Amino acid sequence: MTQIIANESINQQKLQRAQKIIKQLQSEMPTYIANNSGPFLAAIFDEDGNLIAKEANSVVSESCSNNHAEMNTIKAAEKKLNTYDLSAYNLSLYVTAEPCIMCLGSIMWAGIKAVYYGVPSQRVEEITGFDEGFKPNWLNEFKKRGITVYGNIEQELGEQVLYDYVNKGHTVYKPNR
Ligand SMILES: [Zn+2]
Repeated sequence: MTQIIANESINQQKLQRAQKIIKQLQSEMPTYIANNSGPFLAAIFDEDGNLIAKEANSVVSESCSNNHAEMNTIKAAEKKLNTYDLSAYNLSLYVTAEPCIMCLGSIMWAGIKAVYYGVPSQRVEEITGFDEGFKPNWLNEFKKRGITVYGNIEQELGEQVLYDYVNKGHTVYKPNR
């Protein structure tokens, strides 16, 4: 049984909305993976539930180590709204797995107001071998900056998508060390 974590008291309405969106993102993942993207997908919605941007990880397909799902989605949202500061729009970012060290920075600099994620990094690393980076106490750091975080949403479903990715022999991209 998944234990939801959050940096505020859990609001059932926010959680249910996030469960619905993350379930949908996970269900779309096989299509992205078939096109050499993923296995992570992110979407940004405004407070009225309008989709602003949705992008998958494209590290392999676009030969760019920065092209994580969150980075791609934030870039698309900023381009669409023609601003480098999204804070006035009260946007929430939904993503199929916990953001990595790079994406945490990007989320902060972009002015995103809330983050809802699926599979926690520890499980992503155990299942796939991806390196998610060091992220001490980031839920508290985000709280200090006014960014709400809910995690481990639809975790079992997300883990299954990652197991499928690995079992089908898709690339686990990372630098050689
Ligand atoms: Zn990332």
